[in-house]
Amino acid sequence: MDLLNTLVDKGLRRELPTREEALAVLATSDDELLDVVAAAGKVRRQWFGRRVKLNYLVNLKSGLCPEDCSYCSQRLGSKAEILKYTWLKPDDASKAAAAGVAGGAKRVCLVASGRGPTDKDVDRVSETISAIKEQNEGVEVCACLGLLSDGQAGRLRAAGADAYNHNLNTSEATYGDICTTHDFSDRVSTVQQAQAAGMSACSGLIAGMGESDADLVDVVYALRELDPDSVPVNFLIPFEGTPLAKEWNLTPQRALRILAMVRFVCPDIEVRLAGGREVHLRSMQPLALHLVNSIFLGDYLTSEGQAGQDDLAMIEDAGFEVEGTDTTTLPEHRRQCGDGAADEAAADAEAPATTVPAPSDETRRDLVSVRRRGAGTDLPPNA
Ligand code: SF4
Repeated sequence: MDLLNTLVDKGLRRELPTREEALAVLATSDDELLDVVAAAGKVRRQWFGRRVKLNYLVNLKSGLCPEDCSYCSQRLGSKAEILKYTWLKPDDASKAAAAGVAGGAKRVCLVASGRGPTDKDVDRVSETISAIKEQNEGVEVCACLGLLSDGQAGRLRAAGADAYNHNLNTSEATYGDICTTHDFSDRVSTVQQAQAAGMSACSGLIAGMGESDADLVDVVYALRELDPDSVPVNFLIPFEGTPLAKEWNLTPQRALRILAMVRFVCPDIEVRLAGGREVHLRSMQPLALHLVNSIFLGDYLTSEGQAGQDDLAMIEDAGFEVEGTDTTTLPEHRRQCGDGAADEAAADAEAPATTVPAPSDETRRDLVSVRRRGAGTDLPPNA
């Protein structure tokens, strides 16, 4: 396919595809799927070899959020029967983190529900970061605490946070459809504050919320313009008790096409397969390793993932290797400077709108299990 040859050439040169090319990846047929995976896999191997970075989530504070993000089981008014607890003590968070590190995780992601942290919360998280770093040499710590206020990013950086996560989630045009309590620009501003404070920015998306192909391409280009170091790609976990509980729009094939598109647009950025991989990729998960260079190990914030040991076995069986702490994730050129993505993205043309197929009525509630173990419980974590 000319399209795929062009995209591989561009990916190997770190050149931004056009929006039409990105849309064309999403429009490929199932007959072309393995060719798409193979092409994006060449780009992945060029910049990240066969390495897979493992990340481990610790939910510091679960549920009872005043914001109304419709995809989220912790949102205002959520009826999802998730674990609800307030801030974990630094030692308890550190123990949870240590389980992930023992399982092979290189980065620990400390997440808290809520609109954003108070200054007292930042103090609390700073203590947790210190405890984790003291007890787990070489571990990277990413904080994910919501919208940041002035000065908080600098304080987290000073406390030892290596990275800050705040996802854009969906396109600017559709942001108001999924959340009314904050807007797209608030999210962009927090990512920029984290970057300005010297933290590695992590920002990604959620696919499967009823968005069009054009929306998906828009959010990926918006991310590329922000130039984060890592881009988590979540597939909506349709939690019972949330407004998006009936959004079962994704097939494994579509999920793979989305990951391939993200890889072509972000060739040398850490692309992380995040929440929903078990639910939507199912037995096709190993193919996704040819596209992403990073995954979460074990459980998610409020839902259970497959067993950590199964993650490790999947990586080995697929011919990949877990990235060690002695290896730097990003290619050399990205450690030194930005790559001009913002200019290229701004110069790119608008693409015609396309839409995803109508949602299927078939739901797979059996695939979504609320997390009942690990942080905030007396049961050992899955790592
Ligand atoms: S995504 Fe974050 S801010 Fe939004 S409802 Fe969930 S916990 Fe709250």
